[in-house]
Amino acid sequence: MPEGDSVYRQCKMLREALEGSVIVSSDFRVPSLATSDVSGRTVVAVVPRGKHILIRLSQAPDAAELKSGAEPLTLHSHLMMDGTWRVFDREPAGGAPTGSGGEPQAARSKGDAPAGSGRAASSSRARNGMRTSRPGASPYRPRGQARRGGSVRSRAEARTRLSADVSIGQGSHTIRAILRTEDVEAVGFDVKDVRLVPTRLEDEQLVGYLGPDILGPDWDLEKALERLSAQPDRAIGTALMNQRNLAGIGNVYRVEVLFMSRTNPWVTVGSLPEGKLREIVTLAHKLLHLNKDRSMRSTVGQAPQGRPLFWAYGKDGQPCRRCGAVLRRGEIDDALLTVPAPDGTTTAPGTAVQHLRKIVWCPRCQSE
Ligand SMILES: [Zn+2]
Repeated sequence: MPEGDSVYRQCKMLREALEGSVIVSSDFRVPSLATSDVSGRTVVAVVPRGKHILIRLSQAPDAAELKSGAEPLTLHSHLMMDGTWRVFDREPAGGAPTGSGGEPQAARSKGDAPAGSGRAASSSRARNGMRTSRPGASPYRPRGQARRGGSVRSRAEARTRLSADVSIGQGSHTIRAILRTEDVEAVGFDVKDVRLVPTRLEDEQLVGYLGPDILGPDWDLEKALERLSAQPDRAIGTALMNQRNLAGIGNVYRVEVLFMSRTNPWVTVGSLPEGKLREIVTLAHKLLHLNKDRSMRSTVGQAPQGRPLFWAYGKDGQPCRRCGAVLRRGEIDDALLTVPAPDGTTTAPGTAVQHLRKIVWCPRCQSE
């Protein structure tokens, strides 16, 4: 499930693939952007804001004409429950082993070739050599970061090359946005709230309402505590998920942080013992930072293979690893969370809807 740490990693991948490159063509598959085209613009930055992904684009190349919409734009997307961006190599023109196609080929040869097939490996090395000596080669290669919801895709999958046209192939109906540069194709599968807005209006139209960004360079613990405390009647479990209070926490971290701090999810913010709120938020901040560069999200340390990655998340019905009581599953109302409108245009941030989410907690050690 995408949370602040997955968004951070997705942005890192997109940054390495796109930043500084010119978009040669774009393809938006949402009605509101059906006629939009950002080709000719350069990707100037890829920025995570809480759980939002902002891809900033330069002004249009023919901006001199001052036609409307030529100013710098930001492409906004949100992963919500199951969205993901992936980066693919583009097929080298003419089939020649150019740099951009060499590396994944090499990876496959090494991984899949039967023992003793030295020829394949050495020719791969030759191609690799060509790549590294190629001037201007961009460092866009996926490095295991093409993952979804914290789980790592297989090596082969992570290095998928655009051997068939992904834009019309299997699964293409879930594509919402494609940005192509000379070297790569960045594809947004199932991403939500895809919008293009003038970069100068990012705050006003996209992310200005967000609380301090837990993985942002300007993280402000005191401000987050202040915003959380401003609504003392809110259940702590709900308050932590309200991106207006602080941005970046999703259901996994909510469940884990409340378990680790022995806090009942339904206790109101105002009735938490002195210092508890600070402890909870500090812990969340620490966990997200620990995981932001990890290939597998874990709240139990660097978990060796086969060991559980979480204390409570997804473990209802199993014994609590602290006290042995059976972990329970319940529902918490995440009303007042920000919900983008399906067409991404009409709903103001913070629209209230009842939104029941499944959480897991220990009835013994999180009793209050
Ligand atoms: Zn327990």
